[in-house]
Amino acid sequence: MNTPAFLHALRATLGENGLLEQGDLSAFERDWRGRYAGRALAVARPANTEEVARVVQLCAEYGVGLVPQGGNTGLVGGSTPDESGQQLLLSLNRLNRVRHLDVANQTMTVDAGCVLQTVQEAAAAQGLLFPLSLASEGSCTIGGNLAANAGGTQVLRYGNARELCLGLEVVTATGEIWDGLSGLRKDNTGYDLRDLFIGSEGTLGVITAATLKLFPQPLAQMTALAACGTLEDAVRLLSWAQQRAGAALTGFELMNALSLRLVGQHFPQLPQPLGETPWTVLLELSDTESESHARSVFEALLEQALAAGVISDAVIAQSQSQAQGLWHLRESIPLAQAQEGLNIKHDIALPVSAVPAFVASADAALQQAVPGVRLVNFGHLGDGNLHYNVQAPVGSSAPEFLAAQEGRINRIVYDIVSNLGGSFSAEHGIGRIKREELALRKHPVALQMMRAIKKALDPQGLMNHGRML
Ligand code: FAD
Repeated sequence: MNTPAFLHALRATLGENGLLEQGDLSAFERDWRGRYAGRALAVARPANTEEVARVVQLCAEYGVGLVPQGGNTGLVGGSTPDESGQQLLLSLNRLNRVRHLDVANQTMTVDAGCVLQTVQEAAAAQGLLFPLSLASEGSCTIGGNLAANAGGTQVLRYGNARELCLGLEVVTATGEIWDGLSGLRKDNTGYDLRDLFIGSEGTLGVITAATLKLFPQPLAQMTALAACGTLEDAVRLLSWAQQRAGAALTGFELMNALSLRLVGQHFPQLPQPLGETPWTVLLELSDTESESHARSVFEALLEQALAAGVISDAVIAQSQSQAQGLWHLRESIPLAQAQEGLNIKHDIALPVSAVPAFVASADAALQQAVPGVRLVNFGHLGDGNLHYNVQAPVGSSAPEFLAAQEGRINRIVYDIVSNLGGSFSAEHGIGRIKREELALRKHPVALQMMRAIKKALDPQGLMNHGRML
């Protein structure tokens, strides 16, 4: 590769603002979890789709690998460059326009670098809802959400990012622009290319814009917290809540005692209205009738659950700010864990019915393998998605614990997941951290088809090389 000529051509394309070559680039080079510190050849910051296409064409011409990046909040090491200093970091954060909002069609088209919260606010300003919701929504981008097929807290009712996207604009690995920005809900015209790029984690092309599905804003939202003695009780509560509330049940989150203890330790200012309990469940209803209707559904459900001993205590938020406080507890868990130190994350999916059996087997097997290990278990129980994270025993060094135990602990957890018909990656993706797991656990025929797709769409293997496959 002729690096000076490549950088010269990039400079000519992007100008002063569009290319960072010197100074502190660590915000682009380090991942959110602090597990990978790479080194970029440079950081390209194109301002529009045509500039993205030109950058990709130059990469193809000079044989330079590139790593697309949105908000850099991904949790699997997919959005930062490797240590070689030879990969170009392609940041989408200057592509940040809301292009069009069609109220009658209930769609909006946005640039890929738009921050998720901006997209939610633009929809709300027109009385509409874009329901994708993650704790990282103030920093992550819609391009990153789609590239990772993000889930979050509203999947139960609205589906994950894939289900919220109708069309895409993509710069292919050879630098062509594909305009697939359709707002159609029905379009059976051959292979679904949109679905191929969603969840491809930057390994097939660069998403530059998307047409998203919007929904009517619910008339009332109500949030409650309930204490359960066992996981079986939490699963029973979910099933009763689904029966009573139907589609109005938009959130059902689970937190174990240690998750909330860590929140209490690292964020003591956040009130925790229920005392310590083995399992805490956060429920959210989004009602299209009225606030009093939502409240009566909640009251009936919680009274039934109290009477049956399925819950031991509960609170219903009395105001928007109290509801936000309850959500804040849930959303602070990843931050509290990060402050507690490096940990081993497992983002797993199981049939909801298998969750209690998984936790019983995995807890016992891990305590036997590494006595004193701390299990921070929380997640989207309504979707059968747990963040089953493992923190070093108190007093031991987190980096040493990870170096010595990560492989062994992963094998224990993922074997139990596989035996129960689950997935080792529910919503965070594969990236760098789960590449070997994919090679080991994905069906060989599926892997063969994935490799054929990669080869067909990225013949030079330049797009996010070393990630996923
Ligand atoms: P990045 O981290 O920049 O990139 C993610 C991947 O997408 C990388 O492989 C990157 O190469 C690729 N990529 C980025 N932009 C593009 C593009 N325009 N075109 C092609 N490829 C691209 N995730 C969930 O699913 N659910 C959660 O509840 C959740 N909660 C989180 C909470 C916290 C506190 C944090 C830090 C993260 C959380 N995440 C969650 C993970 C993360 O926020 C999501 O995966 C998010 O979708 C990533 O968006 P991003 O813009 O930061 O993407």
